[in-house]
Amino acid sequence: MDGSDRASETTVDLRSDTLTRPTDSMREAMARAEVGDDVYGEDPTVNALEALAAERLGKAAALFVPSGTMGNLISVLAQCGRGDEMILGADAHIFYYEQGGAAGFGGVQPRTLANRADGTLDLAEVEAAIRADNDHYPVTRLIALENTHNRCGGRVLGVDYMDAAAALAHARGLRLHVDGARIWNAAVALGVSPARLLAGADSVSACLSKGLSAPVGSVVAGDRDFIRRARRLRKALGGGMRQAGVIAAAGIVALEEMVERLAEDHANARLLANGLAALDGVRIDPTAVQTNLVYFELARPGPDAGDFCAALERRGVRMGATSATGVRAVIHRHVHAAAVDRTLAAVAETLRAAAA
Ligand SMILES: *Cc1c(COP(=O)(O)O)cnc(C)c1O
Repeated sequence: MDGSDRASETTVDLRSDTLTRPTDSMREAMARAEVGDDVYGEDPTVNALEALAAERLGKAAALFVPSGTMGNLISVLAQCGRGDEMILGADAHIFYYEQGGAAGFGGVQPRTLANRADGTLDLAEVEAAIRADNDHYPVTRLIALENTHNRCGGRVLGVDYMDAAAALAHARGLRLHVDGARIWNAAVALGVSPARLLAGADSVSACLSKGLSAPVGSVVAGDRDFIRRARRLRKALGGGMRQAGVIAAAGIVALEEMVERLAEDHANARLLANGLAALDGVRIDPTAVQTNLVYFELARPGPDAGDFCAALERRGVRMGATSATGVRAVIHRHVHAAAVDRTLAAVAETLRAAAA
């Protein structure tokens, strides 16, 4: 028991998997953690986390960073110069939710392509978007993919697709970055190791603080030269931390104990999606729910999604509106099957009340 289970009896909070609190095992590891000054490279717990993350992600080296946003920013800045172009999806988290940091801090020009419903980019379109060598054009340096794809419903990009994207990037002298905030969910859903899924990627940023329940932190991984540049950038961005072993200790527990259990979250997400599909007033394709993110639409005529979420919250269930008709529910460790049942009952009541 970590206290969080008691809290979830009063409210079912489905706004995000970032709400997960550290486990008892994490708190014990944090209390015991041996520490040193990580800016000097002398924190043994941070060093152990970085070695473990590099191994799990199949890369030569890794770096502990305060957030996924900083992990992506560092990864892009380490691989692109000012005026260079990066190709990414118009629904990519990097493009949509990171304040344009790569442009703001690095002068990197985003070249967006439409994401397909499954989160992928059409590789023929990617190839066509790669700039020729011409004095008029910027230089294309990087392709960025997202796996699982957040705005595309937590969809998983498969091994063959990831390999094909890497092959295209490398054939054209580009590098491939993967925003793998939820790469652990992708790997569990596919039944492959993250290392295999990322075999062709030059860099990856992966969150420890979402479904894996660590309180803080992400890791970036890649080759040694990339990580050396990433380490310099982390310092410049103010992300050099001192006795960070206190939080890295929780990250080690996250990688060792919390990955396989994500399958439970995926099963509960399917339970929620199937239940929602049976309700009048909800539109959802439950077969598209592959991991822990459940996006659905409110049918028209029907309540505005913001009003729906406010009314649902009064019934003890919190979700997020994504548009006038769209709603997102995120399954995580504090949401058990009984809470899914409670959620479905609350959604049904809320829709009935709105229709009355
Ligand atoms: C959450 C998320 C991030 C950023 O992580 P923070 O730790 O919140 O900065 C990046 N990419 C995707 C796809 C995410 O879902």
